[in-house]
Amino acid sequence: MVELQGIPVSPGVAIGPALVLDADGYRISRTLIDANKADQEYARLRSAVDAVAKQIEANRLETSAVAGDETGDIFSAQMQMLNDPRLHGELRRRITTDLHAADYAVNRVLRNYALALRRLENPMLAERAEDVLDIEKQLLQQLGAFDEQPLSDLTEPVVILSHNLSPSETANLDRRYVQGFCTEVGGSGGHTAIVAKGLELPAVVGIGTFLDSVANGTRVIVDGDRGKIILDPDESTLASYQQRIKQSQTLSAQLAELRDLPAETADGTRIRLSANIEFPHETGSCLERGADGIGLYRTEFLYLASTEEPSEQDHYEAYSQVVSEMNGRPVVIRTLDLGADKMGHRPLAEQEYNPFLGLRSIRLSLRNLDLFRPQLRAILRAATHGDIRVMFPLITTIGELRQAKMLLTVVARDLKEEGIPHRADIPVGMMVEVPAAVVMLEHFVKEVDFLSIGTNDLAQYTLAVDRSNEYVADLYQSSDPAVLRLIQRCVDVADDWGKPLAVCGEMSSIPGRALLLVGLGVRNLSVPPLALSRIKKAIRSVSISECKEIAERVMTLDSARDVDVYLLDRLGVLVPELVVT
Ligand code: PEP
Ligand code: MG
Repeated sequence: MVELQGIPVSPGVAIGPALVLDADGYRISRTLIDANKADQEYARLRSAVDAVAKQIEANRLETSAVAGDETGDIFSAQMQMLNDPRLHGELRRRITTDLHAADYAVNRVLRNYALALRRLENPMLAERAEDVLDIEKQLLQQLGAFDEQPLSDLTEPVVILSHNLSPSETANLDRRYVQGFCTEVGGSGGHTAIVAKGLELPAVVGIGTFLDSVANGTRVIVDGDRGKIILDPDESTLASYQQRIKQSQTLSAQLAELRDLPAETADGTRIRLSANIEFPHETGSCLERGADGIGLYRTEFLYLASTEEPSEQDHYEAYSQVVSEMNGRPVVIRTLDLGADKMGHRPLAEQEYNPFLGLRSIRLSLRNLDLFRPQLRAILRAATHGDIRVMFPLITTIGELRQAKMLLTVVARDLKEEGIPHRADIPVGMMVEVPAAVVMLEHFVKEVDFLSIGTNDLAQYTLAVDRSNEYVADLYQSSDPAVLRLIQRCVDVADDWGKPLAVCGEMSSIPGRALLLVGLGVRNLSVPPLALSRIKKAIRSVSISECKEIAERVMTLDSARDVDVYLLDRLGVLVPELVVT
């Protein structure tokens, strides 16, 4: 049994056999062969090596002809590595003595080479590590390792263990079979984490390098509450986790009874509790858990979850479905937030060094009007079916807000001229997720109908910490006093102007932090569907004065750690059922 610690990103426990994926999403089968097949397997490797050698030589000739011998020499170096006798000795030993299948041997041996080169911390040698990985890929290609489509042809329950999963890969996981997942990299605020919550898949990220030592089929427990995974658990550990699954099912059944009760404090302050969704089909689970509406519909997943770029009609159908199913409840449609860790079908920008500070979100939409216009048209058209509101993400300057609003007006005029049914007067809001917007909020607030704080990005940009980077995950805390002061300011400005303000970042789905937000004066929370019942339970268990006391005390503290310790302590007293032990 091996226990590994990572970052918890999506709650719950999953137990199942491991499906191990490599960095590029292919399967590293730790396949063993029969002793009598070893020679045949080694011969298979030899022919793969010959084929790759031919390919490298062809690359060398072509590159030398086009770019000169010096550039062509890159491939001479690759050829040298491919023919390295030590490499061949190691591969032969793995296949003929350890009885590893050729692709598994190639994967392990070349990865170890690359790792050793990188560890030397010599930039020249580190570059050679890339060559080693290039050779590995070519050999695996020759050996047919990429022919498998491990994620699209699942037939059995699995727990995915992967170096990384992008938000779109996560969105496309087959929920019928995938029980949970765990990745070597990633931080708690990345969009992969958000999708995992949307899909209700227990998940842990940022474990660090561990895939080398796991074979496919190993039994794994993913503890998404505590951010642990356990490989090959012993019987008593397994039994205790099975027990936890049962307890959590019992708690969920109890919480389900709150469905038709309002999210109201014990002394009668009503909180609007809405849901964040990524996919139209999630409205079912929002209604089942009594959501007051959709507070954040992340529409970019229309792009990420399909192989083709969505048309205006695709947008229209998705939004119409959501708003019709929500049956009169408000639906806040956030316009495309593509870029950074969410890339669509076509390259929308050159590779960026700092994509979270780059052409992302509203910036990208305003520069790609052929993407943005169809979406805005579809929003206005779908608004004829119910209470739709539009919200612009990542607004940093007043100019962006004005441009986006202007475009909305232009699109409404076009629809009118074309005689297409639509509503032009829908409420327009903005996400407050960049510190600059908080600082200038008095100016923004005049020009919008509502505000919604995106604490995921607000924490990232305030604390200068990449939300999806495991190395700085400990610094990424929406409970940091600096973030809390910005939130307090937003509440004050919104109150002064009588404009509704919501918090739709993940912060509002953590019970202690949700009570803090209520204490700070927030009256609209939007959380992933999975968190609805728990947050409703927390709200219904406290009085507004208890929340205010929490906020007053918290605003005297000077570190996220002290804030969280205090919040957990209060939660233990006020709503002990929700404390994960
Ligand atoms: C946020 O930043 O808090 C937010 C809700 O938006 P996203 O997580 O999609 O960036
Ligand atoms: Mg955001």
